[in-house]
Amino acid sequence: MIQIKGENAIAAMRIAGRITGEALYLGGQAVKDGVSTKHIDDIIRHHIEKCGAVPSFLGYGGFPGSACISINDEVIHGIPSKDRIIKDGDIVSIDVGARYRGYHGDSACTFACGSVSDEAKRLMEATERSFYLGAAKAVAGNRLGDIGAAVQEYAESLGYGVVRQYVGHGVGRELHEDPEVPNFGRAGHGIRLYKNMTIAIEPMITQGSYEVRVGRDGWLVTTVDGKLSCHYEHTVLVTEGEPELLTKV
Ligand code: MG
Ligand code: MG
Repeated sequence: MIQIKGENAIAAMRIAGRITGEALYLGGQAVKDGVSTKHIDDIIRHHIEKCGAVPSFLGYGGFPGSACISINDEVIHGIPSKDRIIKDGDIVSIDVGARYRGYHGDSACTFACGSVSDEAKRLMEATERSFYLGAAKAVAGNRLGDIGAAVQEYAESLGYGVVRQYVGHGVGRELHEDPEVPNFGRAGHGIRLYKNMTIAIEPMITQGSYEVRVGRDGWLVTTVDGKLSCHYEHTVLVTEGEPELLTKV
């Protein structure tokens, strides 16, 4: 069931969103040659807990980290590890959630470590741009398919792949609520968007094929063709005008 949030819920989600956005920013600042993904996870967890919030991902379905940290051809759900060392030229996708007063924020971004290839830079920029094109459609009265169509049309016009197997989602008391928010679809189709819905829009854009697979640890999702993947996500409050990005800091 799709939840329309009340004023108290939205107030809590603004705080959860700010904490999430700050944690993601701090994690991104820590992306450096020679740093382990566990170190970044520690920074993120520390910030969330210091703010009186709870890392949404920690223990979610048994996930052992506070953030998902995924490198290069890894799409999502990378488990932080002290043995996983980031190198110059890597692109590092960090996905973070924080729960405050019972409500979640959810946000992700891909960061560059040092000097990355022009191809990687273009993919990062296109992924962020595709998010903003999709988010611009998150207006009351529009339809869900308007968001996915905007993301897909732009990403595919550049020759990139749009991951199908994983999608955005409603967010609120639960980290993943209805509706599913695909990054593909047809404009004018799907459910209608209402004021005070809160949804996570999160394009996962690949350099090659959109096909992905889950690794042996049961979590890590990588591209099947080994090409790069980028992720960009905010928790978005649907309004009658400009959508409010609750996790943007
Ligand atoms: Mg996320
Ligand atoms: Mg999400």
